[in-house]
Amino acid sequence: MAKPRPQERDRIPPLVESLLAELGEDPRREGLRSTPTRVSRALRELTDGYGTAPEDVIAGAVFEQDYDELVLVKDIPFYSLCEHHILPFFGTCHVGYLPKGKVVGLSKIPRLVEVFAHRLQLQERMTREIAEALNESLVPRGVGVVVEARHLCMEMRGVQKTGGQLITSCMLGTFRRDARTRAEFLDLVRRP
Ligand SMILES: [Zn+2]
Repeated sequence: MAKPRPQERDRIPPLVESLLAELGEDPRREGLRSTPTRVSRALRELTDGYGTAPEDVIAGAVFEQDYDELVLVKDIPFYSLCEHHILPFFGTCHVGYLPKGKVVGLSKIPRLVEVFAHRLQLQERMTREIAEALNESLVPRGVGVVVEARHLCMEMRGVQKTGGQLITSCMLGTFRRDARTRAEFLDLVRRP
């Protein structure tokens, strides 16, 4: 019989308890009693991208295919946490690529976005990481990624009350070199 794995103690709840007290709360009051364990579960789920290698997400779903037109997955919702404040930033991600003999199963692209979103992130870096991961595993002719997001660390703290979106993009290969490919991609992204 396999030995049961020793239960590792979760070290987040006592930290949250101290944090609550430091903020002036009483961690023992009714409404807060389960908060430390809930916060721990939520934070672990929202950062579970650390435990997943992006190449493992794609591996097994790459197919030989001589389709050579633009592939675009639009409006992929994502939720991430900014690494400066551990506050949410969220929005949509658009991922396009121009295949060179290999395509990836479409459901894998939203999953790839999630693996990078579920870490402490900067929007600029996340955009580039998604593009580079796809570029490395498919070796396509080009990749384009556009991310549009709202940052609660700016909106809630009053730095920017208007709720404006931050838009970032990363273009690789023909998407960078060829204005027509890039324009086709951006046009499809903007089309409602
Ligand atoms: Zn922030």
